Amino acid sequence: MSLAPLPTLDDLGDVGGRRVFVRVDYNVPLERGEVQDDLRIRASLPTLTELLDRGASLVLGSHLGRPRGEVRDDLRLAPVADRLEELLGRDVAAVSDVGGEEARAVCSHIEPGDVVLLENLRFEPGETKDDPELADRLAELADAYVNDAFGAAHRAHASVHALASRFEQRAAGRLLQREVEVLSRLLEGPDAPYVAVLGGAKISDKLTVISGLLEPCDAILVGGAMAFTFVAAAGGRVGRSLVEEERFDDVREAQRLAVERNTLIQLPEDVVAASEMSVEARRQTVPVDQVPDGMMGLDIGPRTVEEFARTLADAKTILWNGPMGVFELEPFSSGTRGVAMAVAGANAFTVVGGGDSLLAVKRLGLEGSFDHLSTGGGASLEFLEGKELPGIAALRGEG
Ligand code: ADP
Ligand code: MG
Repeated sequence: MSLAPLPTLDDLGDVGGRRVFVRVDYNVPLERGEVQDDLRIRASLPTLTELLDRGASLVLGSHLGRPRGEVRDDLRLAPVADRLEELLGRDVAAVSDVGGEEARAVCSHIEPGDVVLLENLRFEPGETKDDPELADRLAELADAYVNDAFGAAHRAHASVHALASRFEQRAAGRLLQREVEVLSRLLEGPDAPYVAVLGGAKISDKLTVISGLLEPCDAILVGGAMAFTFVAAAGGRVGRSLVEEERFDDVREAQRLAVERNTLIQLPEDVVAASEMSVEARRQTVPVDQVPDGMMGLDIGPRTVEEFARTLADAKTILWNGPMGVFELEPFSSGTRGVAMAVAGANAFTVVGGGDSLLAVKRLGLEGSFDHLSTGGGASLEFLEGKELPGIAALRGEG
């Protein structure tokens, strides 16, 4: 890992009368043109208000969804601008292009205190290609650069990577700064026992993380769909549960390393299996390696919740990423609820990451019960693997 310090708003210098490009993460769920959850918009406010108080004008850029370089009316940022206006208590000018004529015209006339929101960055094909030409066009819109989009920091995209190097005056916003501070604490000798709880359905992504967590962690609790790849690799019967056979070797290697490092990988004992992923489906609690043919494991069982809770009760540091089951459906939500409550109740430094995990926490009304809710799922996992994230390297001037 790099040792160069991450420049923050404290290092940014005078921004009075200057236009600051702020890369924000407004990748929020939209339905019928309305913002369904404004957590990410609210999370950007400390950085925005601080810069405005310091006399800057703001040019905001975000991506939304995956328009793949094409303009899509259902992925325009206008509804986001409306919500931001309410939250910020001042006008937000939504322009209808990214780095085109309208953006240039508007940004050449902005005054201190003005806020401009560019159109969805991914309407530009160059965004995901880290295109230098797009970076040049965006750089013309501002005098300084702030990245506060932790959720996009693991992507070498133009607004996150190439653009940063166009500015002498550049820094991490408060949200990105806090993410890096908290997650660094997990990387660099956190209080032991350090326990990670991993679940969810993105098996491949999370298997990669396990190898990175074996060293710092004392125990890794594996639930969710992930667990079945471990069980199947060891020859257990998993029925129709989600399994990634091409990762069997990785799973065995992780287990071998775990023994070598003296890290416990704790798998479920029992699971709630069902014939289908539905509320009406016939279900049955069975040992994790005896899922009947034709059924699939959709939640960890009650004995597993107890075992996991026991390990969590002794932890001093906890990282939780990924629900323990299909929590969206009530019959398969007990495992996630049980683990959420065990993490929340532990006398430990607690960090929760992952979009669906945060959704589960929110539904349970437990948002206030953890030390840190990480807004970037993929980014936090890559950071915790010890990888240098392109967006962070660029701020440090190393990439
Ligand atoms: P996060 O967004 O927190 O990183 P993921 O995206 O990896 O988590 O996974 C979340 C999804 O995993 C949820 O939609 C949940 O329904 C699903 N899931 C959890 N356990 C299982 C399981 N045993 N079988 C199938 N899907 C599962
Ligand atoms: Mg997810």
